[in-house]
Amino acid sequence: VYAPELESVAGQVTAGHFQGAYDDAAALAKFAAEVHVITYEFENVPEAAVIECARHKPVRPGVKPIHYAQHRLREKEFFRNCGIGTAHYDAIRSDEDIALVRSLPGILKTCTEGYDGKGQARVTTRSELKEAWEKMGRRDCILEALVDFECEISAIVARGLDGQARCFPIGRNGHRDGILRTTTVPSGLPPATLATAERYGIALADELGLVGLVALELFVTKDGRVLANEMAPRPHNSGHWTIDACATSQFEQLVRAICGLPLGPVDVIAPSRMENLIGDEANDWLKYVSDPSARLHLYGKSTPRPGRKMGHVTFIDKK
Ligand code: AMP
Repeated sequence: VYAPELESVAGQVTAGHFQGAYDDAAALAKFAAEVHVITYEFENVPEAAVIECARHKPVRPGVKPIHYAQHRLREKEFFRNCGIGTAHYDAIRSDEDIALVRSLPGILKTCTEGYDGKGQARVTTRSELKEAWEKMGRRDCILEALVDFECEISAIVARGLDGQARCFPIGRNGHRDGILRTTTVPSGLPPATLATAERYGIALADELGLVGLVALELFVTKDGRVLANEMAPRPHNSGHWTIDACATSQFEQLVRAICGLPLGPVDVIAPSRMENLIGDEANDWLKYVSDPSARLHLYGKSTPRPGRKMGHVTFIDKK
């Protein structure tokens, strides 16, 4: 594991932990010399660091997925080019753009560096939009039409070196304050909706030429349409249920893909509900270990700040 932090969560469970800055070419080269293949589990690793690593060893899934995932406007355009449905959106880069918008009411999002609802503002009128954009420092933004969704889901797709792609069973996601709280499998959604989501996920993996894992977050609208929100080319919080309730976990699937091994089966072993433990909620760990249907995972983060994901629990259906 290579990470800039001294206290790396993944570093706690690896045979080798390298601490270094993302722009330290010498440290990256030293790390690369010790491994056969490199992946990332955070889509905001600077593109330059990934390019640097790729000079030494194969990086899977490579530069292209983070190039798109790090920029909301590029990402949405890429979805459209893959034939993946999205809500209407407008680029906001100037006062003229604001005068011409067609996506109100909507959510204004910075193109870069936003996640879990950060760098976002709900706006109804043009003047609210202008004010929100000023507050964001007139940075490049995207205005996405507000989607009146029935629920949120994610299609998590692994694609191997041989180009074979496989989608995990699709779960239903519940959010609060812009943060994922729960994922429930099975989702209870109609087969046609799930088939569209799976088709979108696989189209995305194919068009990216992905070797690895990608999670495509989607809205299901009240009238049954499926619209892409964003992607993350890495194991995703909404796939954590696979550790305990799927024949192959998303983490194993990623390792299989990048090592050129065949992908594992994705049968659901038991219906399940994953719940995130956010901030102080992780202090209730005793309650979960006392429940035989609960599988507790704590991430070993030292300080439980509000909004910080400290761990999760997967409840396995007893039936
Ligand atoms: P994001 O950071 O883009 O994943 O947004 C965080 C959460 O805000 C999403 O999971 C949704 O619950 C909500 N959200 C984001 N974009 C929209 C939209 N265009 N319409 C309605 N809700 C949205």
